[in-house]
Formats: sequence, structure tokens, C-alpha cells
Amino acid sequence: MRCLPRGGAYGLSPPWSVTSVDFRQPEGAIHFEVDCMAKRLPCPSCGAADQPIHDRIARRWQHLHFFQFRAFIDARLPRVACSACSKATQVEVSWARPGSRFSLVMEAFVVAMCQAMPVAHVARLVGVSDDRIWRVLKHHVDQARAKEDHAAVRRIGVDETSTRRGKGSRWALLKNSVNWTRKQIDTMHWLQRSGLKTARAWRLKEALCRIYQQCTDPAEAERLLRRWISWARRSRLTPFKVLSATVRAHLEGIVEHFRSGLSNGFVEGMNSQIQAAKARAKGYATTANMTVIAYLLCAKLRHLPRNPWLPHHAS
Ligand SMILES: [Zn+2]
Repeated sequence: MRCLPRGGAYGLSPPWSVTSVDFRQPEGAIHFEVDCMAKRLPCPSCGAADQPIHDRIARRWQHLHFFQFRAFIDARLPRVACSACSKATQVEVSWARPGSRFSLVMEAFVVAMCQAMPVAHVARLVGVSDDRIWRVLKHHVDQARAKEDHAAVRRIGVDETSTRRGKGSRWALLKNSVNWTRKQIDTMHWLQRSGLKTARAWRLKEALCRIYQQCTDPAEAERLLRRWISWARRSRLTPFKVLSATVRAHLEGIVEHFRSGLSNGFVEGMNSQIQAAKARAKGYATTANMTVIAYLLCAKLRHLPRNPWLPHHAS
């Protein structure tokens, strides 16, 4: 091609410039070759000016698609041989972060896409492995979290969620009974008739839920909670004996809920958002992956890379 795109499309500035554009139709890709025109550079390690270039190492970064074609930036990165600090140090480039094989705008686009669709879908669209997308996400979520300031936080809410697929009667036990499906109602009726431990556990759980749903007076709540603790302690169900001890240990704080009116509705809302993403993704292979998605979707991180498709005045 005669007319080369301007360097601004890649975040290029002198001494870097585009030297060739190679359209490889069988590969469905366009390769942009960029080169550093300088013969001497400042040392990236100690900053000493005007140092000779030791050698150049070929590197490739995947950039945003050009129309339907994948796009790559190819460059030979100079290593500066410094007479001041005696190190040979590779220069950093303005269009990518060290160690990444994506351009910065491509990483920003990947992060934006992962907020709207499962990682596996993004990987297919970009034409790379899931692992590479996860690595980009983890890097940017970690960076964004490190920049957050939680000094003004006064209250925290706690809820639990699950990483993997698989729900059945366990899900029905956790779910509010008014939202049960016909099949779950049938299962629960069978469980109640069976006299199984599961059914006793369900009655205990329902009783505790009712205290939360119906009680508005702190004194009444404390009386009912103490009665529930006594029942759970004698239930011959180890998890409920443990729970009753926990409720007793934190009784004062729990009763405070009935005084202040604070609830865990907010964290439950976040939980629903995480579970919906998990369902779309058909489960997560690791807890670490789900944690990354939870932060990405729910944490309102203010320092993620900016979606390159948004207009400049939008956030
Ligand atoms: Zn140096």
C-alpha cells in the first residue's frame, strides 16, 4: 500500500513510525510494521542520555480489528547498551504494557467486552485462548483495585456465593419458598414427609427467615432469636449447632439490624448479578476467575482501562 496510516491510530510518536502494511489474505490479518528510527536512545534503566543500541528483538502485538481482519503490530524492539549503568535494557513502547501481547487499546476493548459477555465468547471473537483473556482481565482488575481508596467505608455486608454449576434441592433450600418452581415444591413436600435431616434443617432455616421477614421490634427479635438458638442447639444437626453458637456470639449485632433497618439486600443483589454471569459462562473453572468477574461487574472500579469505543466526553 502506498498510503500508510498515521501513527496516532496505534499510539505512536517519534522516533517510532509505521514502515509497511502487509495484508495477508489467507491469514485474514493485516500486519503493521513499525520501526524505531533512532540510532541512539536514553537508557530505559538509568535514564542516561544518548546511548547506543545493542540489538533489536522482534515482537508482535495484537491490535483492534481493521474491518473483518485481525490486526497486528510488528516491531523490532531496541535494547540499549548503557555505558553509565552497564546494562542492556529493552525499551518500553507507548502502545502496549511490558509483557503483554495485546496493544493497550485492544486490552481496553477486551475488558469492556468481558463486562458484557463471557470470557470464552470474547476469546473466540478475538481469536485467542481463554487463558490470554483471563490474564488481561486479572492484570487490569488487580491494578484498578490497588488504586481504590476504601478509607471512607463504614459498613461491610457479607454473603456467600458458589463457583460451580449444579443447584437441585439445595438451591430450593436456599431460595425463598415463594419463588420455588412446581418441581421444587414437589421435592420439598417429599423431603418434609421423609423425616430426613434435610427437612429438619429446612424448618430451622425457614424459622430463622421468618424472624427476619416479620420482626420489626428489636426486643421481640431478641426473644425469638434466643428461642431459635435453643431449638437449633438441640437439633442434632451439627451445622445448625455451629450456626446457633455463631448467632449467640453475634446476637447483639444481629439485633442491631432490627434497630437500624440495614439489610443484606445490596449484597444479595450483587450475588444475583454474579450468579447470572456464572450461568452465562456455564460456570467458572477456578474461584480466582469468578473473583475477577465479581470485581469487574460489581465493584464499580474507577481505574479500569477506558472503553476505546466510548466518546471522549463519556466515562
Ligand atoms: Zn543505564
